[in-house]
Amino acid sequence: MVTGSLTSTTRCLQLARGVTRNFRRRCIAVSKPEAALSSTASTHTAVRSVAALPAASSRSHRASFRAFATVAAPVIEEPMASQAPKECFRKDYKPPPYVIDTVHLTFLLNEDVTRVESRLHILPKQTDEQRPPLFLNGRSDVKLVALKVNGEVAPEDAYEVNSSGLTLKSPPAGEFDLEVHTECQPQNNTSLEGLYRSGGNFCTQCEAEGFRGITFFQDRPDVMATYTTRIEADKSKYPVLLSNGNLVGSGELDGGRHFTVWEDPFRKPCYLFALVAGDLAMKEDTFKTCSGRDVALRIFTRAHDTGRVDFAMQSLKRSMKWDEEVFGLEYDLDLFNIVAVDDFNMGAMENKSLNIFNSRLVLATPDTATDGDFARIEGVVGHEYFHNYTGNRVTCRDWFQLTLKEGLTVYRDQEFSADMNSRPVKRVEDVSRLRAAQFSEDNGPMAHPIRPESYIKMDNFYTLTVYEKGAEVVRMYEAVLGKEGFRKGMDLYFQRHDGQAVTCDDFLAAMADANGEDLSALGKWYSQAGTPRLTVSTDYNPSDKTYKLRFQQATDPSPGQPEKAAVLIPVRLGLLAKDGSEIPLKLQGGADLGTETVLRVTEADQEFVFQDVPEVPVPSLLRGFSAPVRMTVEGQTDEDLLHLLAHDTDSFNRWEAGHVLAKKLMLVLYSAAKDSNEGTLEQRLAAAGGVKASLVGAYRSLLTDSRVDGTFKAYAISLPEMSELIDKIPGADPTLLHEVREFMTRELAQQLRSELEAAIKENDCVPGEAYEFSAAACARRALKNKALGYLSALGEPEVTEQLLRRFKEATNMTDEISALAALDRAGARLGGTASGVEARTAAMDGYYSKWEKEPLVILKWLALQAGSNVPGNVAAVKRLMSHPAFNINNPNNCYSLFLGFARSPVNFHAADGSGYEFLGDAVLAVDKINHQVASRIVGAFTTFKQYDAERQSMMRAQLQRVLDTQGLSENHVAVQVGLLSKLTHAMATEEYLTKSIASGKRYHELPDRFRQAVPEEDWKRRVKEYCIGRGFSWVASVASTACPEAEYYEDLLRFYRQQKRLFPYHLGEYVCRHLRLTPFRYYVNILYDSMKEDHPYDSVPNFTAADIVRIMGIGRNEYIAIMVQAKSKKLMWRMNKGIVKDLLPQAPLNIQIEPWWLVHVVNLGESEYRQLDPTEATVCHIAARPGGARFSDLNGTAVRQLYQRGLVWLDVPVRPEDQLSIPPLEGFVSNKTTTAATAQDPLETLLYQIFVAASDHVTVAKLADILNVDVATLRVSISMACRLRFCRKLDTGSSAGAEDGGGMGSPNASMAAGALGALDLDAMLRSPEVGPIDSPKEGSFHGGELAGGGGAAGGTGIAFVVDAEVTGYLMMGALTPNCKKHSVTLFEGGRVYGAEVIAELIEELHASVEMSQGFEGEMKSLVDYARSLAVVLECVRACAGGRPIELLRKESLAGMPPPQAFRILSHSYGVVLPITSLAFPPLPLSNARPASPVNYGPLPAAQTPWLQLLLYTATGSGPLSLVLAAGQQLRRLPSQLHGATHVLLWPWDAAAVRVQNPPVVVEAPFMLHSLNEYLQRSALLVQPLGQRFNHGSTGSCAAALDKADTASCRPQLADGPPMVTIDVPLPLVYADLSSKAAATAALATDAVASNGGSGPGRLPGAGAASGDSWNPFELAEPLPGGSERGSNLSSHQRSLLQRVVGFLPGGEAQQVQLPAGLAAALHNLGLGGSLGFVRLLQAAAPSAAAADEANGTQHWLPLMLRLGIPMQPSSLCHAVCEGAAAADFLGAGAKQAHRGGQGVLAAALAALAAEHGACSSAFAGGGQDDDLGPFVDRPVGNLLFDGSLLSSAQLGDAADGMPLLLA
Ligand SMILES: [Zn+2]
Repeated sequence: MVTGSLTSTTRCLQLARGVTRNFRRRCIAVSKPEAALSSTASTHTAVRSVAALPAASSRSHRASFRAFATVAAPVIEEPMASQAPKECFRKDYKPPPYVIDTVHLTFLLNEDVTRVESRLHILPKQTDEQRPPLFLNGRSDVKLVALKVNGEVAPEDAYEVNSSGLTLKSPPAGEFDLEVHTECQPQNNTSLEGLYRSGGNFCTQCEAEGFRGITFFQDRPDVMATYTTRIEADKSKYPVLLSNGNLVGSGELDGGRHFTVWEDPFRKPCYLFALVAGDLAMKEDTFKTCSGRDVALRIFTRAHDTGRVDFAMQSLKRSMKWDEEVFGLEYDLDLFNIVAVDDFNMGAMENKSLNIFNSRLVLATPDTATDGDFARIEGVVGHEYFHNYTGNRVTCRDWFQLTLKEGLTVYRDQEFSADMNSRPVKRVEDVSRLRAAQFSEDNGPMAHPIRPESYIKMDNFYTLTVYEKGAEVVRMYEAVLGKEGFRKGMDLYFQRHDGQAVTCDDFLAAMADANGEDLSALGKWYSQAGTPRLTVSTDYNPSDKTYKLRFQQATDPSPGQPEKAAVLIPVRLGLLAKDGSEIPLKLQGGADLGTETVLRVTEADQEFVFQDVPEVPVPSLLRGFSAPVRMTVEGQTDEDLLHLLAHDTDSFNRWEAGHVLAKKLMLVLYSAAKDSNEGTLEQRLAAAGGVKASLVGAYRSLLTDSRVDGTFKAYAISLPEMSELIDKIPGADPTLLHEVREFMTRELAQQLRSELEAAIKENDCVPGEAYEFSAAACARRALKNKALGYLSALGEPEVTEQLLRRFKEATNMTDEISALAALDRAGARLGGTASGVEARTAAMDGYYSKWEKEPLVILKWLALQAGSNVPGNVAAVKRLMSHPAFNINNPNNCYSLFLGFARSPVNFHAADGSGYEFLGDAVLAVDKINHQVASRIVGAFTTFKQYDAERQSMMRAQLQRVLDTQGLSENHVAVQVGLLSKLTHAMATEEYLTKSIASGKRYHELPDRFRQAVPEEDWKRRVKEYCIGRGFSWVASVASTACPEAEYYEDLLRFYRQQKRLFPYHLGEYVCRHLRLTPFRYYVNILYDSMKEDHPYDSVPNFTAADIVRIMGIGRNEYIAIMVQAKSKKLMWRMNKGIVKDLLPQAPLNIQIEPWWLVHVVNLGESEYRQLDPTEATVCHIAARPGGARFSDLNGTAVRQLYQRGLVWLDVPVRPEDQLSIPPLEGFVSNKTTTAATAQDPLETLLYQIFVAASDHVTVAKLADILNVDVATLRVSISMACRLRFCRKLDTGSSAGAEDGGGMGSPNASMAAGALGALDLDAMLRSPEVGPIDSPKEGSFHGGELAGGGGAAGGTGIAFVVDAEVTGYLMMGALTPNCKKHSVTLFEGGRVYGAEVIAELIEELHASVEMSQGFEGEMKSLVDYARSLAVVLECVRACAGGRPIELLRKESLAGMPPPQAFRILSHSYGVVLPITSLAFPPLPLSNARPASPVNYGPLPAAQTPWLQLLLYTATGSGPLSLVLAAGQQLRRLPSQLHGATHVLLWPWDAAAVRVQNPPVVVEAPFMLHSLNEYLQRSALLVQPLGQRFNHGSTGSCAAALDKADTASCRPQLADGPPMVTIDVPLPLVYADLSSKAAATAALATDAVASNGGSGPGRLPGAGAASGDSWNPFELAEPLPGGSERGSNLSSHQRSLLQRVVGFLPGGEAQQVQLPAGLAAALHNLGLGGSLGFVRLLQAAAPSAAAADEANGTQHWLPLMLRLGIPMQPSSLCHAVCEGAAAADFLGAGAKQAHRGGQGVLAAALAALAAEHGACSSAFAGGGQDDDLGPFVDRPVGNLLFDGSLLSSAQLGDAADGMPLLLA
């Protein structure tokens, strides 16, 4: 069999879904005839034999079967568990107890139910006394209708049927006949295994275990029988009825039916059975065998395809002849049939004399098939034919031996193709494929030996390892034995085993015996997985002229094989002299070996010494790739490689040398690109040396070497594939590697241009020349198209033009598709432009309309588009899925599209995960239809280990998603099959085990295979470690199943101490009471450990450090002091680090104990008890009751005394309904270098989250909901936080148990508290009467506010959102200590809140500003931040109307998925007010969600340049702006940018190009480079600056951009761009007149200006009409026309009215004339109620500006708009706040208006983007399926804003691909 694709990945797997589907079908079957049984069946519990069913039901069956013991009822299934497929082990092989000698099959094919009657003649193997039951495999969709033994109806109790087969309990003595009649429904069999109907034909696929889907049978390859097959079917629908062997009968039947009878005289296993019935056309030919027999050769296809089988027919004849000549094997029957079908999972199947092919491997004509297709067809036709001997006549004993037939047959087809075409090229191709795919399989989680030791589903082992590596193993026999020796071995193999089912050992024995050799060392290749590494070192001794070669081999451990033995590695070699000649070889003391020999390396470390070597040779090792190993030659220089490339007589090694050189260079360049961020990628690569001249030279000489075959040249100048390099780079970035490869391609193309052009010329086809598939013709095309491919990378118009011409004029598919691919490649370099997309689409469309009727040709089209590296192609691929050309039900379609897509390093591996997400979706979609196909697509994820951490985790997340969606993780039936088996392999057994532990599985519940892999002891250890890591209590977790309690806690404490975790207070019940460990003692040990090891204080995790301060009073200073003290006792310290113990405190501090804490007594010893004083004794008595006692109920002094002595321990009880408050963090220790994330305490992680998410008065239960953690876990964390005083519990005021709880030692309260220790929520719920805990000083807090804070309608708080930068500034500034404290809180906890806290913070900020008067430079800007923060907080407080205010640090939401962050935001806040500009991604808020807080920041789309364009178009003014779509390559600067001294770049995908704060300013010399660099990842808004553009040559350069902006572009800003800007605060503050009048007039003026004064106007709405104060927020009405009032104004008045206050970058205020129309534009875009600022750009020419200056006006253009609160300069911040306050922006009306305004803005942005953009992800991260994700459109075409209008831009030929675009 040949698997689905010869070029990639493995054969498909059975998916678990198969089980489900079969099950569903069963249930349907059951419910029909026997409704009464359906309930039993559907509960999966009944196990009954068929025979046990009532005989009465036989009525439902047809008369023709009445004579038999008819079985009416369907098979009832076994329970799921026992139905699970078992893992099979090679060592468990047992021969079958019965031999099936002959098989007579009758098929009654029908549209609805097909009947199969099978008559078996069976021979027992045992004597009559030992007659074991006979088991025949079956499948649940095959229904037994009759069973007869020796002609007699089998009694009902004689057999049993279940879903896996039929058991005949006691077969008769001696030989016997068994008749099995079954029914099946091939039309419903979508698995394409067994008998199925598809495309109107009946067809079979039986390898590996499909025959059991036809009838009950011993479905195993070692049961070999002769078959006679009779087929009956409707003649009109199925005129052709085929099976194996010779046709021996045919005729007509009643009812328009007919029949054929086929007889196959050769014994075969059932997997080789085949049947085809359908309406097929046939092409016939004959072949005369070497003995003179005529064999009829027939190829069947659909009628319209008969014209395309000629090549396959010729290939078949060539194969038959070749096998006779090379192996002496003559075909054995009179007829050989090939059937081509479209719906076929596999590539082709070698059924005896009836090969079935996937039609794409048969059909070919020059116009529809490429040279590659032809070569593939030849190879596969040969492969299947060669199986007739290697596979059919001698077959496998069991499926573990699959490589026996496949490895050998692949070797044979490789040799066949090599003989037919170019041998060197064939070898290079085969080795490349092996390295590209099999090596990574061998190196990954799927690694297995070519002969696996076990399998669950055999389908999983149709792998590249079994096939391709298997063929390499066969090739090693040839290397060791030589061609003749190999043939001798083959002859003996057939002589011994013809007609048998044998093993790999038998093959090895035949090879060894025929040659009298011991080949046992080769045998290890069968059992060992992994690719051996061979290291070669050389040593030349000039004195005795010897040359020593030392070989060291090792194989890495692989799953299940930790230790590897040395294997036999045949090394074919020669030695080259300096002049390039070959040195004669002679081993020391040995015979002359000629100039080439094969060394047998069998040891782990082995040396060979050659003598009489006249000079230092260059060794040519592993010629022809004589063993599948990774070889490293130590000390091999580039010169050596160049020497080999020039002179080696072995063409493989010649290619290899060039290839290694290129790989080395590519790796060097990759690391150069990776390690540096200086300049563009091109600059970095050029700085690293670019493409070396020596490589260019070597390629050049190859290209011009007339002795070398063209195809070989094409290979020799090909750069290594990504997959060859990926595994050499730990944590590779595939996109970057792709870019490096593209760079090298471009460089080579540039430098070899004339040679490449010459090669094209020399090899171009002559017009009118007919296509020929011959080695010579292929060579010419290969070289020509390779050269064209190189040139296309340049993306020059002439080249693209040429390609387009070649595409249109191509006379064969090879040239046509090459041209199309080259066009796509050129397009990927320039393709994002509007016309680029159109043109690429146009070219693709042209191809489609030409070939739309040719599904096979369309496959190439699908694959090409899917695999395109045009950035953002995923959207296009998604669209392809709904294209009529794509049918998801067709496997070929899926492979082309999805696997094609997975080959794109740019799009599949897109950094934002969109590619992975898409393919994950695809797997799930396809899996609903065909699990084998889905399984192959999943394979694209299994290489995840090769990539960088981000990609790894995203790929794993997709695997996990598939796994979760399958629901397989819970179903251990499913665990054992298909998809999951592949997934679990891929995700490693480890992860499965972790999941199982987490879900509480017990060892005996694990699937067998895992129990095999993990002994029970090991499992228990894992369970223990898992529970310890999470701090579970022994009683309440699975830990109790793994080890004794004492051992568990002992290990847990050791682990905790080692990790320096917080004391496990929640386990007090055991740790404190029983073990009597006190927190004090625990922390003493931790500090002792830490100091002894000389660890820094920072090694103590933050919360642990805080607790240590609390308990011991040791903080950073004390820690350091103790260390200094200890080290001062030098000698003693050196001798005994233990002395630090004496320096640590001897007793715990007196800690603060809250009245509601519970006091428990440890298990006291008798003497301890006697020493208690009476008060202490009383305390102990009370506290000793179950659950302890409240501290407030006890004598405090006594408790403290007992605590000091470690006789009591304290519990901090928390209940779900408790309310919380988080005060400013005090005493928090900020250690940043804490332990690795893996060892992170989950408790600590949760504590940080609590700080972010908790709002005042939130309950524990609600918080658990927000954080999506379970309440019990959260209670432990809250309890901890309360203990550390980072969190306060508020009085809930719940009434029921209040009096109760106050009572002395209330048992109820005790119970509840005790429950906490065990994380037992149930216990909690069982005691609802639990007493409340009073917290008098917080008493006034509860009540009113709570209601607002909870419900789904969203919170009421107001969040002022800042980012880490602000926080950082605050912490750096010279602040008062109290202020610093709050900064730390913000930094550590992520938020600051509470009315008093905010009040205090404002005070302290003011004080800090006061304190810092007179600071300059950097310090002044720090002060500015403090000032701004105070201003904002005051403003918000003034407007808040008593609602709570918080300061929130945006990064504290960072790690959370958007929905969770949204829940947190909407739970707590009614208003979110961010600073501007907040870093990407935008806050997860959505205007469309009712619960969403009112957002004064930007919508996602408003964080892109769309907002600017919108502003420009709405205003009709703005700077000249060019929009460039992503992906294009500029050849020169577009004319629009000529004369610019600088450009401003505003990227759409700011995250993708790592720009924090746009714009980026680029100076003229770097423009082209920078544009191209950015355009690879993002669309850009580009604005030229300079004289020519009428703005900004005057003014202060230094002040051009504000601080935040310059920070991001400082490197380019040596002189600063020539621009003057001013920031105008929003809402607008008018400079004169009353605000209201000014605003109204301004709006009116604008309206007049923009409408030319025509039409009646309307005055603005409510706000203008009512009240005296101007309120921009209440102006909700749009302004379509001018107003009378406005039009009445003189132009001077108008201009006065448009004066507002703006702020220069330094903060100075200045009056400024608003650009005409801006006020109205802002209003009409819904921005009237927004906070933020508009930045204006001075636009007048110098002279004009001066003139304007004189009369007080300057000309300004809108440049950009930012929403939110600007922090700098503080005067701007102040103005924005003032405006906001004046407008009462937090008032209900204003909020409502702002929300409405945002809707208007969103709609306007959407309209603009819809007109010029396409939907795609603009920012990394986020989920795509909700409105919270940061997804916006980006432009698809080039646009130009010329100062008044936005239109599509013509770049002329400045951008690559333009000619293509215009075509
Ligand atoms: Zn095969």
